[in-house]
Amino acid sequence: MKVLKFGGSSVASAENILLVENIVKKTSEEAPVTVVVSAFSGVTDALIRAALTASQKDECYRECITELENRHLAVVKELLPITEQSHWLSFVKKHFNDIEDLCNGIFVLGEFTGKIRDRLTAYGEFLSSRIIAARMKSASLDVVWMDAGALVITDSNFTHAKVDVEKTFANIQHYFEENAHQIFIAPGFVARDSEGHRTTLGRGGSDFTASIIAAAAMAQELQIWTDVSGMMTADPRLVTNAKPIAHVSYQEAMELSHFGAKVLYPPTIQPVRARNIDLYIKNTFRPEDPGTLVSTRFNDENSGNVAVGISNMNKVALLTLEGSGMVGIPGVSAKLFQCLSNEKVNVILITQSSSEHSITVAIGEEDVERAEKAISGTFEDDIRLQRIDPVKFETSLSIIALVGENMRSRSGVSSKLFGALGNNGINVRAIAQGSSEKNISVVIAENDTRKAVNVLHEEFFESEIKQVHLYICGVGNVGSKLIQQIYSQNPYLRENLLTNLRIAGVSNSRKMCFNDKGFKETELMNSLEEGESSSPETFAEEIVRRNLRNSVFVDVTASADVVPVYEKLLKKSVSVVACNKIAAASDYESYQKLKSASKNHSCNFFFETNVGAGLPIIGTINDLIRSGDRITSIKAVLSGTLNFVFNNYDGSRTFAEVVRQAQDEGYTEPDPRLDLAGTDVARKILILAREAGYQLEFDEIANQSFLPEECMKGSVEEFYKTLEKYEDHFRKLLDEASAGGKILKYVAAFNNGKASVGLQHIAEDSDLYHLYGKDNIVIFKTLRYSEQPLVVKGAGAGAEVTASGVFADIVRSV
Ligand code: ADP
Ligand code: ASP
Ligand code: MG
Repeated sequence: MKVLKFGGSSVASAENILLVENIVKKTSEEAPVTVVVSAFSGVTDALIRAALTASQKDECYRECITELENRHLAVVKELLPITEQSHWLSFVKKHFNDIEDLCNGIFVLGEFTGKIRDRLTAYGEFLSSRIIAARMKSASLDVVWMDAGALVITDSNFTHAKVDVEKTFANIQHYFEENAHQIFIAPGFVARDSEGHRTTLGRGGSDFTASIIAAAAMAQELQIWTDVSGMMTADPRLVTNAKPIAHVSYQEAMELSHFGAKVLYPPTIQPVRARNIDLYIKNTFRPEDPGTLVSTRFNDENSGNVAVGISNMNKVALLTLEGSGMVGIPGVSAKLFQCLSNEKVNVILITQSSSEHSITVAIGEEDVERAEKAISGTFEDDIRLQRIDPVKFETSLSIIALVGENMRSRSGVSSKLFGALGNNGINVRAIAQGSSEKNISVVIAENDTRKAVNVLHEEFFESEIKQVHLYICGVGNVGSKLIQQIYSQNPYLRENLLTNLRIAGVSNSRKMCFNDKGFKETELMNSLEEGESSSPETFAEEIVRRNLRNSVFVDVTASADVVPVYEKLLKKSVSVVACNKIAAASDYESYQKLKSASKNHSCNFFFETNVGAGLPIIGTINDLIRSGDRITSIKAVLSGTLNFVFNNYDGSRTFAEVVRQAQDEGYTEPDPRLDLAGTDVARKILILAREAGYQLEFDEIANQSFLPEECMKGSVEEFYKTLEKYEDHFRKLLDEASAGGKILKYVAAFNNGKASVGLQHIAEDSDLYHLYGKDNIVIFKTLRYSEQPLVVKGAGAGAEVTASGVFADIVRSV
């Protein structure tokens, strides 16, 4: 005998039932089969919904019932030959009359007890099994309907009844002795108590019915047919890359299902395991897929993977009992668990600190009220005498469990697990590891579930590719170059760094758009155009809300408005990469705050492009400091704009004309005064000094501006006019320098903890002399480089190199 169970989606429609028939027919050619079926998909939920509606005195329950009735009638019409239809149509109608009567009673009484719920929900399986049996009979198969609801005997714990194994096995065995057919079709989920009242085995319980029948009949194997190709490495609704597991041990399957892998109802394993019956999980819609085999035959400690799967369970609450009175007193935990058990509160997980000062248990959220009442009652005296604190509850949590027999023989599993969670800012509220070491479970906030499961899945099952989610703020000059580079470099990154960059969100000053899977290059700009209206705050809020793993916020604006969101993001472990230098050059305290936020939340705040665009300047300082060096002085030419202006200002054109050309060619900030007044250079030397470990503020930088004060007043256009007016002044600066055979350079210097910026006359033998175009140069003197300085020189401005610097920061940050 083989036992095959088909779940709700496998029997959701006439079309699906025909697939089931095929599978059953084929299997029954080799051996007799018992087919256990669920209600048609969604029917149990709909029946419960109708009853709840009725219990709230809402007449709409009638519509629900009519809808369900029509669905069943339609299946009958599609599946059965005309000659048999009228019988089965009235059969269905009669039972829907009964269902309506029950709901009318609920409506009148306003009461929906567990006992009534079992009577009601049982109709789902009853009808589906009768209709399917009738269909197979009409297809000339040797079929009989088996009334499993009468054979499976339970206690009277309605909605979660416990099976009396002895009586049930005897009934089933007796049944098979008396009845010889090739195919038995039985309803799952339903049973009765010793007084004949209808009971059910708990939601998802059809799996269990099948397992009990398989065990009682000593079946060759049990097959659970569902809508996925086996037990997967994670819930496929959460993890797109989840893969079917070829084989797992009973124990592993039990742990995975206990912690939420819905594909198998947890009690299902025990009966087949006790008799060593193999259990297959197969896909009704892809019967050719191998599926999962659950058995003892594959306890292979040397198989590749440490873990076989990750499961997750939502709607969990933690209850903590603590107090000084607990230490060393025996029996506190016994009392706690006894009172929870009396209240039929299912304990999912337990942790106790070694100080015995507290016990924490995880339970389902629906049990919180009952648990609280029970514990407060049981420990009333201890609470009054302040030996124990009133019990504490925390809700909206979920449990993530990493399962695998092989974890026992490998070290480093937990550090990998906690490292991955920590790097993504997922706070672990409680931890439990069974002494069997087949499972490590962590309790986290429910809204971190998707992220956590994906992070762990990548860590343990997809060493191949790490998904990085980028949120790009700003699509101007640098932003659009960056986006181009990302798309063109991504194949290389995937292949060589095993990293896939997804542009998961983009915003400009007006709009924003998001796509968790990453935008395609062709759709990005359109999506932004059609996006929702945006501000830096709303953009950041949405990033936090989406809560995706390996998230990086990229600020490619020059706007002060974006800076305030950095801290909030870093505190959520979203790394920040900025070419915007306002944050790093703001007051020291804010700069430090961002640095510590990134450190404390295991993410990065990178801003290499703040100085010298893509040139490795800040990275070089960081490396020197990390390796124990100390920077004693810095001399630098850091402004592409000022270089351009002074390289081109040779007296043949006015200073104003040269500045305008610089602006037209995109070398300046929108307001060129930010460059000309040295503000931009001062910010850069400030950032370098800070990165070198010096606590410095912007206004401590000596800035001898060469711009007459009047230039700072008015609009940009007025400024150009003022420049013309002061042409003599600029000419004089130039002539003074040329008189000594020197040229003008705007130099930033840092020495002995003091920084300055200003125009200098540079002689030909200076390192600073030969700078062309957009060149920047930084000359470091350090303890190690005290004689011959360390020099970084190269193109230090321009959208392309800045974008590539930002890109390098992104890659470093993940
Ligand atoms: P059935 O109606 O056939 O009993 P269920 O809905 O009870 O089916 O269980 C199958 C579903 O379980 C799958 O569609 C999948 O969404 C979900 N599921 C959750 N975790 C897992 C997992 N680890 N492996 C496979 N499926 C899972
Ligand atoms: N129909 C029941 C439920 O939906 C039992 C099952 O499908 O296993 O919970
Ligand atoms: Mg199920």
